[in-house]
Amino acid sequence: MRKPIVAGNWKMNKSLAEGRALAAGIVEAVASYKGCDIVVAPTAVSLAGVGEVLGDSNVRLAAQNMHWAEGGAYTGELSAAMIKDVGCSWVILGHSERRQYFGETDEGVNHKALVALKAGLTPIVCVGETLEERESERTLQKIELQVRAALASISAADASRVVIAYEPIWAIGTGKTASSDQAQAIHLEIRKIVAEVFDASVADAMRVLYGGSVKPANIAELIAQPDVDGALIGGASLKVESFSEIAKIV
Ligand code: 13P
Repeated sequence: MRKPIVAGNWKMNKSLAEGRALAAGIVEAVASYKGCDIVVAPTAVSLAGVGEVLGDSNVRLAAQNMHWAEGGAYTGELSAAMIKDVGCSWVILGHSERRQYFGETDEGVNHKALVALKAGLTPIVCVGETLEERESERTLQKIELQVRAALASISAADASRVVIAYEPIWAIGTGKTASSDQAQAIHLEIRKIVAEVFDASVADAMRVLYGGSVKPANIAELIAQPDVDGALIGGASLKVESFSEIAKIV
């Protein structure tokens, strides 16, 4: 039985004070929710401050990115040890915006995932196709490439700790959600790929999230799909009401 996940990716939004207030509201609203893992990913400069607000609540802290190196001459980057030190137990890796605007590659995402697992962090690895890839029927090809690359050299023992987030790029911040059937079809394919790379038990244990314009109005249908294990949420994670409503439904 896979425990569902509701994760909020705040992206480049919220000041420290706003982030702390949002976190406090979420902690209060979801205090009694036991059925899912609840995670928030503030900006790097707010990690420590938001982490303090989360305390020992049932809401966990994630970074939006990290570097694979232990330390040294990597201006602007954060190591796994650094994000753990400020309270992160999760990290988002290879978000499409990182791939698109900051040149992240499949190899780099894999390197980061290996380092995150070694550090005891739970990586949420993002994959997804562009509109052009979907329209030219190259969605599966793209997803397979990204999933296989992300999982390269990961041991079967570590693999079930990896979380994959399927985020079709055309559905991010656009108000267009993949239909629940479209999401289910890709999630099932992802599980098949994981079974090929490892085995059926790893595939069965791995949690696969959907992301892309998730909101209270569409989460029920998405989460009802057998292979959708939760959501990675952008816009709707920036308000206590919408984020906690999604967590309640999940
Ligand atoms: P939206 O929910 O704003 O579409 O963002 C999705 C996303 O990119 C989460 O990582």
